[in-house]
Amino acid sequence: MNFHDSGLIESGLLKKGFHQADSVNDADIIIFNTCSVRDHADHKIVSELGRLKKNHSNKKVVLAGCFAKQIELRNKAGANKTGASLFFDYCLGPDEVLSIPDILKYGNESEKDAYSDDYKDFGLIEEYFYDKKPENGAAAVKITEGCNNFCSYCIVPYVRGEERSIPFEIIYNTIKKQVSKGAEEILLLGQNVNSYLSPEGGKKDFCFLLNALSEIEGIFKIKFLTSHPKDFNDGLIETVCGNGKISKEIHLPVQAGSDRILSAMNRGYTRKDYLRLVEKLRNGHSDISISTDIIVGFPGETEEDFQMTISLMDEVKFDFIFGFKYSPRPFTKAFEIADDVSLEVKKERLERIFQKQKK
Ligand code: SF4
Repeated sequence: MNFHDSGLIESGLLKKGFHQADSVNDADIIIFNTCSVRDHADHKIVSELGRLKKNHSNKKVVLAGCFAKQIELRNKAGANKTGASLFFDYCLGPDEVLSIPDILKYGNESEKDAYSDDYKDFGLIEEYFYDKKPENGAAAVKITEGCNNFCSYCIVPYVRGEERSIPFEIIYNTIKKQVSKGAEEILLLGQNVNSYLSPEGGKKDFCFLLNALSEIEGIFKIKFLTSHPKDFNDGLIETVCGNGKISKEIHLPVQAGSDRILSAMNRGYTRKDYLRLVEKLRNGHSDISISTDIIVGFPGETEEDFQMTISLMDEVKFDFIFGFKYSPRPFTKAFEIADDVSLEVKKERLERIFQKQKK
């Protein structure tokens, strides 16, 4: 998502007459489009800003994306003026990144509200995408922004806001343009792509979108990221399994194998639901491959809970896993609970899931 947004910012800046510098030393303006999904990402950006302050204090710095939004929200909540000591000129959350080219060219941050409606209705996505070229025959296009799921560990609904689907026409026109420039593979992006529903009303849902895009001449493969297991319904299974242009590589984050932890995470499905979904997908097509995300060390995760994750891995035999140690994120429900699994245990459990996956 951040690469996608960064691409749009870049495209907008080039359109407004800015030029890309060859190095940080040559740049007048430095833009950080940041992540905030784990505390590790926050620490990295804080030290990067420190380095900039030391070596490039004459440059204009734009802090953009999820960490920028986190700072804005924490300051609003009166939390000890987070970010007061950080080095930046502009602080713009994910819903404001499309305004960066105009703010840098015409205005200042205090005028951003005057622009914000234009940026929030996604109209600029099509415009800024217009000049972009597919990379290696592939184009990544965002179809939803934000999330309404409020998994108890996740900061995304707070920093990216409520879920909004980008209008079907914008996605369709953007992708057609990309295909005319040589894109053969399309990657549809969103926090929860399978809850896509075009905002003009009617039934332009994710299945409709997949089927409509698959009819565009020149497209050979459609991939999508990320799916929420609770929204992967039978209609979508049928569409994915029955349409030859839709990739059979499905990323289906399970996060944990214990129902107790899944419930505490507010994931909206049980272990049994997840296994049933995997079975349906595999019964629907012999080439289905499934990757997943797993969080170890969620508050209260016992060895017994963790064993349930290991046994789920045994049952599913994932094609690939991404594993993460839990880290508390501000504003989330889990932030209020004691982070009671020690770092050593988290590290050890992470290693064990990677070893299990290797086997
Ligand atoms: S579905 Fe859950 S984990 Fe994914 S972005 Fe939304 S709240 Fe975060």
